[in-house]
Parts: sequence; C-alpha cells; structure tokens
Amino acid sequence: MHVHVVGNACVDTTFRLGRFPSAGETLNAVASADGLGGKGANQAVAAARTGAAVTLWTALGKDPAGAWIRNCLDMELSDVQVNEFDLPSDRSTIVIDAGGENFIVSGVACSEAFDPIAQTALARRIAPGDILVMQGNLRGSATNACLRAAQEKGARTVLNASPVDAAAPPNFGLAEVLVVNQSEAKALTDRSDMAAAADALAAKGAGTIVITLGADGCLVLGPDQAGSLRLPAPHVEALDTSGAGDVFCGCLAGGFAKEMSVTSALKFALAAAAIAVTRSGTLLSCPSASEMAALIDQTEFS
Ligand code: AMP
Repeated sequence: MHVHVVGNACVDTTFRLGRFPSAGETLNAVASADGLGGKGANQAVAAARTGAAVTLWTALGKDPAGAWIRNCLDMELSDVQVNEFDLPSDRSTIVIDAGGENFIVSGVACSEAFDPIAQTALARRIAPGDILVMQGNLRGSATNACLRAAQEKGARTVLNASPVDAAAPPNFGLAEVLVVNQSEAKALTDRSDMAAAADALAAKGAGTIVITLGADGCLVLGPDQAGSLRLPAPHVEALDTSGAGDVFCGCLAGGFAKEMSVTSALKFALAAAAIAVTRSGTLLSCPSASEMAALIDQTEFS
C-alpha cells in the first residue's frame, strides 16, 4: 500500500523578534533561519518515517529556492515528483515575537498553478488500496480532481482541509477521512460544539470525520457510528505545537499503510503528535523513524 501525498513544499523563513515592527519600521531579528516547510512536505516526511512507501507530488519554481527545497526533500524522501513552473517557489515568512505570537505571510504561486491530474502521472500511478493524502493548499478544483481519481482507482482518501477555504472548500464527499482542527471545524460549520460540528461535516458527505482537539486529543465520527467519540492525547508538557497536525495526518496515513484500523491509526497518530509537541520546530519536531517504529510496536492493531 503506497502513500501518495499531494501538496505544497516551501521555504519557511522564521524571524524571532523582541516585538513586532510597526508600519514602515525596520527591526533587526534576534535570530533567523530557513527551514523546509509546507503541509505537503511535512505530512510526506511524517508518513515516510512510519516506514510506509511514500511519494510526494509537489510543485516548485525553477529558482534557487526550488533547488534548495528539492535538495531538502531528497534527503528525507525516496520518491519526490516535482512539477516545475516558471514561477517563484512557494515560501512563508514567519515572524515570532518574544511572547510567542506569530505573523505568517505566504507566497503560493506554485500551489495555485498546480493541477496534479492534468500535469503529472499521479492518476496513472495510484493503485487500488493506495492512500492519497491531500491538504487545503491547492485550488479546490485541483484537489477534487485528485480525490476523484483516487476514488475511481479504489484508493483510500485522506483530506486534511487545512488551510481552510470556507467559501469554496473541496468536495468532502470525496474524502474517506476528513481531518480538521477545532478552528477549521468551526469555520466550516459555524458550530462551536465539536460533536455538532462533526455531525454537520458528516452531512457534507465525508466518510469519517476527525476533529483534532489539541491537548484533548481528537474526536472521531465514523460512517456507521451513532455518535462521535473522543480519543485522548497522551499527557505531555507541550513546548511548541506547530506542525503537530501534520505529524498527526502523516502518521494516520502511515497507520493505514500498515493496515491499522481507523481507531488504531488515530491512537498511533495521537502518540506521535504528542512527541512532536514536546520539541520546537515543525519538521524538526517530527519523531524519527526509530521512534515511530517503537510507537507502532506499542499500538494495538484492531
Ligand atoms: P491541534 O491542531 O492543536 O488540534 O493539534 C493536532 C494534534 O496534535 C492533536 O490532535 C494532538 O494529537 C496533538 N497535540 C496538540 N497539542 C497537544 C498537547 N498539548 N499535548 C498532546 N498532544 C497535542
């Protein structure tokens, strides 16, 4: 069972400042660094560290940033399929103040131009039983085309609708498993109660709804469940929760590739994400392949 992750890969440039600048002001950062980012890249790396066979399908510009991203991806993944555009590679500038608040600005030209079904061999490569993982960075029509192609091939589909486009979301009816966090669930359904939000998302057609609840774990509503149930997260001292949702989604797909049930794969994803939040960084916080193997050994397959 192969995992195909289709999504963005970008340069994350992080600046740490004592305070945010005001309009027109220039400030020197306390520290700055470039790192590999993008939900597609993060989820593909997390899935690969579970031991699953993973292909990342992504879009990069023909520029130095694109070459740098490609190099980082090649160090983590054995199969990276890149569609190159005469556009600037996607990048995010993340500004963090002394209190940990952040501003993020993203350039998304490549994600917006990327239409994997029209532009890559993805549709030919997906096989029955494979797992397709997508996020909310590509255009909704491109995301729908990928999900539809996977369904037609008899592949499983995991859609992490993040970032959320409440005005024009992808077709949730094409997702076997839909994963959103609490704010995304609220934006998509206008419900603050997460059990009610899960019901509303189920009414939009997704098979299984997973709403991640931060330190409280996740809520799951399956197609043949009368009501949603909550799965707790391991209790840990959280240091930095950025990227935890991507570790969660990548591990969910990795669990499916190991033929875990939905509940077992969710418990594995909760355990891996709990490790990630105890470390700083996005990709840097993702558990290693040996840590993943130990977690899989502790997971009850049911
Ligand atoms: P969130 O996007 O905040 O809902 O977080 C995604 C997932 O990361 C959650 O479902 C948990 O599995 C994990 N997570 C986030 N925050 C914590 C925390 N404080 N303790 C343990 N796990 C966490």
